[in-house]
Amino acid sequence: MPPFIKGKFFDENTKKRCSQCGKEKYLDAFYRDKTAFLYRSKCIECDKKTNLSYRATPEGKANRKARNERYAIRHPERVKARRSKWEDKNRETLRAYHRQWEKDHPLSVNGYTSKKRAAKSGSEINDLKLSEWAWILQLFKYRCAYCGKKSKRLTQDHVSPLSLKGPHTMANIVPCCLSCNSKKRIGPPLCPVQSVLPLEV
Ligand SMILES: [Zn+2]
Ligand SMILES: [Zn+2]
Repeated sequence: MPPFIKGKFFDENTKKRCSQCGKEKYLDAFYRDKTAFLYRSKCIECDKKTNLSYRATPEGKANRKARNERYAIRHPERVKARRSKWEDKNRETLRAYHRQWEKDHPLSVNGYTSKKRAAKSGSEINDLKLSEWAWILQLFKYRCAYCGKKSKRLTQDHVSPLSLKGPHTMANIVPCCLSCNSKKRIGPPLCPVQSVLPLEV
């Protein structure tokens, strides 16, 4: 069915006048306004120019941002639907992006997961910052505190364990390699081969 505009059906031979440049163009030169089943009043060319001019200045950008935020408040369900549609369409790309991000930011991934775990365990202090974890790693020269081996995948180990409400804070955390980590879980407690931090910041 051809689009229905202002009480009339339009076919592909119909022309429409752009409200900006004033030129008459075929309908395929206009974006469809999907919510209203109409065409936008500006032609695609002019629409693009407007978008670019918005991006050109900081004020324009801020205006656009504010407008988008107002829209999101008025139509949260539309924004949500649009987002999930986009996510469905780009699922693979997103997954690849996340995988790459996790590879590029092992420190952050490590930090987030252990912070979450600490929060779940109900330990009272949960204030380890990523920068502090980075500093601990540097102090231990990127070696496991228990076997002294260098490893790229060091986990945060709580000297006083989380299960006993040990705090998730700098003084209670040492780097631990994956194999020592699993040994620790099933066997007797391991002794750090390096002295645990003499913490003075
Ligand atoms: Zn135009
Ligand atoms: Zn180890």
